Amino acid sequence: MKPKLCLRVCAYYREDVEIAIGELGYPWVRVEAYAPLPCSRALRPEDRVEQLLLSPPPDGSEVLILGACSLPRGDAAASPELQGRLVQLEHCLTMVSGREIWESETRAGAYLLTPSWLKGWRGQLQRWGFDQAGAQQFFRECARELLLLDTGTSPHARAELEQMAAYVDRPYRVRSVGLDYLKLFLAKIVLELRLSDTERQQRQMLQEANRKIAEYAMAFDLLVRLSQIQSEEATISAILDLFAMLFGCTDMRYAQIAGGKITRVFSQQGDDSPTDLLEQTLATMHDDYALMDVSSGFYLRIHYQQEILGLIAIHSIAIPAHRTQYLNLGLAISNLCGLALANAQTYAALQEAEQLLRRERDITTEMRKLLVSLTAELNIEHMLQQVLIHLHTLIPNDEAILLLRESNTLQVIAARSSHEYDSLVGQHRDVRQQPYALVIQRQIPLILTPDEITNISPLSLIEPHNLLSWMGVPLLKGQEVIGILTISSAQPNAFRPDHAKIAQVLAQEMTLAFEQMLLLQHMHTLADTDPLTGLYNRRRFNALAEAEFRRDQRNEGNGLSAIFIDIDHFKRVNDEFSHAVGDEVLKFMAGCLKHVRASDIVARYGGEEFVIISPKISLQQARLIAERLRQTIESTPVETTSGPITITISMGIAMSEPDLSTVDDLIWRADQALYAAKHAGRNRVHVWGEA
Ligand code: GH3
Ligand code: MG
Ligand code: MG
Repeated sequence: MKPKLCLRVCAYYREDVEIAIGELGYPWVRVEAYAPLPCSRALRPEDRVEQLLLSPPPDGSEVLILGACSLPRGDAAASPELQGRLVQLEHCLTMVSGREIWESETRAGAYLLTPSWLKGWRGQLQRWGFDQAGAQQFFRECARELLLLDTGTSPHARAELEQMAAYVDRPYRVRSVGLDYLKLFLAKIVLELRLSDTERQQRQMLQEANRKIAEYAMAFDLLVRLSQIQSEEATISAILDLFAMLFGCTDMRYAQIAGGKITRVFSQQGDDSPTDLLEQTLATMHDDYALMDVSSGFYLRIHYQQEILGLIAIHSIAIPAHRTQYLNLGLAISNLCGLALANAQTYAALQEAEQLLRRERDITTEMRKLLVSLTAELNIEHMLQQVLIHLHTLIPNDEAILLLRESNTLQVIAARSSHEYDSLVGQHRDVRQQPYALVIQRQIPLILTPDEITNISPLSLIEPHNLLSWMGVPLLKGQEVIGILTISSAQPNAFRPDHAKIAQVLAQEMTLAFEQMLLLQHMHTLADTDPLTGLYNRRRFNALAEAEFRRDQRNEGNGLSAIFIDIDHFKRVNDEFSHAVGDEVLKFMAGCLKHVRASDIVARYGGEEFVIISPKISLQQARLIAERLRQTIESTPVETTSGPITITISMGIAMSEPDLSTVDDLIWRADQALYAAKHAGRNRVHVWGEA
């Protein structure tokens, strides 16, 4: 549809212009008349520019003002108050006759008139303030003749001219101009205006098209990039950018959907706004799109194959009139978006799987290391320490404690803590105390919530308010909980179910290692000790004594003593009571010998012979120990099944000397001293080398 045009002309020309426009066949052009302005002089302040020139047309059509020759020219012509474009003429008559006729006739002294002006000639003269004499004088002075430029639009024009000529007493003439010139003039300016409008519109369209091309190129780039993005979040952000660019809208929200439910809402402003409306829309959507109640928006559903991945709410698109086109474009792109999102999800899943595999591999490696330390170590304390240290690489923690069950208590037997200033080893808890009771009862790992930790406060060196994560894992031997491994952290939510699984496997391995180690220790004990007394046997004694002897030889002057002990007349005990009672006496002896210093090596050397090797000792101290032992035995009757039996012992002491080469030499000297003690009458201590 052509835009409407309003031509505003001086009232004297309205009729002619209207007829000309009618003949031209421009129904979209409307003609309005403004009250005449002075024609042949510049506007003065007292002249009032007619309101019509200053008011916009009511229907919003374009306004073209013709004539207005008295308005200031040049830059001022574009006076801002004027409503519409001004086609300023030297004189309005030039519209009718053309400039040449108007100029030549005026120069020749003709006073030019038009039919419409003539219609009211009497009124005009009155308005000018002329009576007939004044008028005659005016026209005599300024005009040689009156000339009617006859447009042919008024049948009375000639009669009016005759009357006026007679009134002002001037000759007159008629020049027939018709409407041809006026029509040409009007056609030219109207068509020029249309052309410039069309050009302007085309320029605008071209600019718009160029802009769109640039936008689409960018959008295409984004679309290509979309398929390369590897995280779902980044893909969503790129989709929002893409739609923002294509639809020129800033208000958009993207609802991420999983399993038919909205899981998160993204918007360009980044705020997590309420999801009610989105959820409602999602539930009631039957197609891949839905229109918003307002004309400037719509919803698009994004899916891949049968699965819905997202819902985009596009508010306030740039040009609401183009909503259908935008919607079609959006639908075309949404499939690609779905593909990109599915790709991103697959990629994320692959990554997750890869990470999981890596983690499992790392765990397996660490576990192997741990198991090696579990089986390689014979020293149980060292083994446990190693396990708790390795545990940290598998399950990051601030504290790991191993408690073993001894009837109704749980004893801490190993602990590793970032708080090394103190140790928990030796502390214990009752098995009925929480959270241990629950671990024992359920026989599965237990992870406490921060609230539970606060209420229960499990055993820990971590400050109570810093203890934020706690896990307890049972050590199971069949159906029996033999201990609990506890792991704590000052980090919140430090332990997940997969940590619990790892800890459980580890706890199981620890239980097995314990069992094996206890068995092994038992076997070693059997091999190294005398079954009757529990003291070292001679084989084990020789090895230990030799090592101690070497150590003493290296640290000269520390002193090492050997005390050889023999029960006096032991044969008589056997003979008098029985061999079994003799055994009871031997056990009693062993019990007395166990109370010597921890660093001493005590062994049953033969039938009723015992040896004590004491490092870092002087002769005086050795003599004192031996004498005390002799007195104790002498004064303590042995409670046997056959009643109390009093026995005595004889002892020989030898001190290590630099000239001795083996521990056997030392023991030989002690034996020699013992022999001397026996010889001297028994129940006494004799030192080698003394008389
Ligand atoms: P003394 O040393 O004072 O000269 O006299 P004794 O009777 O202790 O000396 P002897 O070496 O003659 O006797 C040692 C006895 O110890 C001989 C043996 O029967 C007894 N004996 C050795 N081993 C055991 C054992 O394992 N159990 C019992 N009941 N007796 C044992
Ligand atoms: Mg003997
Ligand atoms: Mg004896």
